[in-house]
Amino acid sequence: MSSVLQKLISPLASTPAEPPRNKVTVVGVGQVGMACAISILLRDLCDELALVDVMKDRLKGEMMDLQHGSLFLKTSKIVADTDYAVTANSRLVVVTAGVRQQEGESRLNLVQRNVNVFKSIIPQIVKYSPNCTLVVVSNPVDVLTYVTWKLSGLPKHRVIGSGTNLDSARFRFLMAERLGIHASSFNGWVLGEHGDTSVPVWSGANVAGVNLQKLNPEIGTDDDSEQWKATHKAVVDSAYEVIKLKGYTNWAIGLSVADLTESIIKNMSRVHPVSTMVKDMYGIGEEVFLSLPCVLNSSGVSSVINMTLTDAEVGQLRNSADTLWGIQKDLKDV
Ligand code: NAD
Repeated sequence: MSSVLQKLISPLASTPAEPPRNKVTVVGVGQVGMACAISILLRDLCDELALVDVMKDRLKGEMMDLQHGSLFLKTSKIVADTDYAVTANSRLVVVTAGVRQQEGESRLNLVQRNVNVFKSIIPQIVKYSPNCTLVVVSNPVDVLTYVTWKLSGLPKHRVIGSGTNLDSARFRFLMAERLGIHASSFNGWVLGEHGDTSVPVWSGANVAGVNLQKLNPEIGTDDDSEQWKATHKAVVDSAYEVIKLKGYTNWAIGLSVADLTESIIKNMSRVHPVSTMVKDMYGIGEEVFLSLPCVLNSSGVSSVINMTLTDAEVGQLRNSADTLWGIQKDLKDV
């Protein structure tokens, strides 16, 4: 007696379905990981999504909840496991696992705690997806991107930190709001460290090609009567402020990671401010990762844009690099 399935469906292909082409894994199903996952799903960027975490019940709960939304999504396969075998054949792996920044805690304080977490994660990812591109989100993101590069053995162009992609998005929103225009119409870049020493590139800030520094030569300095510098201070303070108000930040970082994912998966060669290995650029002598405008496509970071920075901006970038190296040089077991 044949089953309903056998009566309903007659198989034609004799070989099993091909492996996924655009599989994305998110490691860590906390607030940030799930915001990344839902943003990636809603933009139809992958044909399979894998989730990994150490908290078994929460992981299964998140997987089931997303699967129940399948009717409204176009990603046919959503899987999850504590075992990294579930991540096999990923093109892109987003790492959000780790200990979260506490109220008032600097990102750099988190570092050694998260290095130990990464030692259990990164070798497993590379074992199952040796050709993947890694996007690190966990904080302190620039240092952990360096740690990931070291632990993974992958070429530097395949290891990317989300870096100041979020800081730049916050900057563009806040500047645009002050000008009464949409965030996408204010062109401005925040580079360097994701965090306290980030560098706003006032020399390049423009709307429709009109350079704001030409309109106000003091812009971004203490001498500026309009105090545009306060906007960058608000960017630096914003993570602390949001954490104070709601306990964590997640939506903006999730949306920004989906944007990076799109450039990589769709081989778009769009330019994003993300953390990359900057040794020998702008006179930086150490192996640190910090954010510069990077061309992202299917190779990961395919190239870096050489910005025409002022001497002061280059000095700030080097200061970012020194701050990061100050932490990195004391790291154990990397
Ligand atoms: P969270 O505490 O909500 O989630 C962290 C998750 O990581 C938890 O589910 C935990 O079980 C998991 N985890 C811990 N150890 C693990 C391991 N060994 N393997 C797999 N999973 C493990 O934290 P969150 O709010 O999601 O933040 C995650 C990270 O993202 C933090 O480091 C945070 O500072 C960072 N973050 C970065 C940015 C950015 O712009 N780069 C923005 C916001 C948050």
